[in-house]
Amino acid sequence: MTTIGVLGLQGAFREHVRSVEASGASAVVVKRKEQLDEIDGLIIPGGESTTIRRLIDKYEFLEPIQSFGKQGNPIFGTCAGLILLASEIDGSYDVHLGVMDIKVRRNAFGRQRESFEAHLDIDGVADDFNAVFIRAPYIEGVGENTKVLARYDGHIVAAQEDQYLACSFHPELTDDHRLTAHFVGMVEEAKKALAL
Ligand code: GLN
Repeated sequence: MTTIGVLGLQGAFREHVRSVEASGASAVVVKRKEQLDEIDGLIIPGGESTTIRRLIDKYEFLEPIQSFGKQGNPIFGTCAGLILLASEIDGSYDVHLGVMDIKVRRNAFGRQRESFEAHLDIDGVADDFNAVFIRAPYIEGVGENTKVLARYDGHIVAAQEDQYLACSFHPELTDDHRLTAHFVGMVEEAKKALAL
């Protein structure tokens, strides 16, 4: 069975467990770096990216998560998780995992739109997807190998680059599990390829 870990340091991780299970894979909450050896893919949830980064450092996750991804294991960053994956953060010298070739802007939709829902077409994944945005970032620029999957108001809100998937919104907060199911599919493919 494919097992997906959800980084459980801070933020909306329990809802991701439910969404992974609804998508037909098993899910574990990851709180120690040793658990990375027991999973096939990792979800980094929404929350507060600076807080999650502080806890990543405290529990010595930075390099282990980077090498987990570099070995070809899929990683899905949602909202704060997207910020953690990015190689560039607008207005900041700080970069966290830096594994995905995207430039992000935090809290990008402005104060008057702190949280909202929108229906998105996610390329090759879902039409009319019910997306929940909470103090969401957007992607300002992508590298040449990064595929844009969805836009909202002209801004990029979902992207994929090889084994990395990222979205600005919270796919775990509704019963629309199609994006999580897409990630589960990526993990199953990677697991087969890595077993060869
Ligand atoms: N605004 C948060 C940050 O910058 C992200 C919000 C979220 O994950 N819902 O980390």
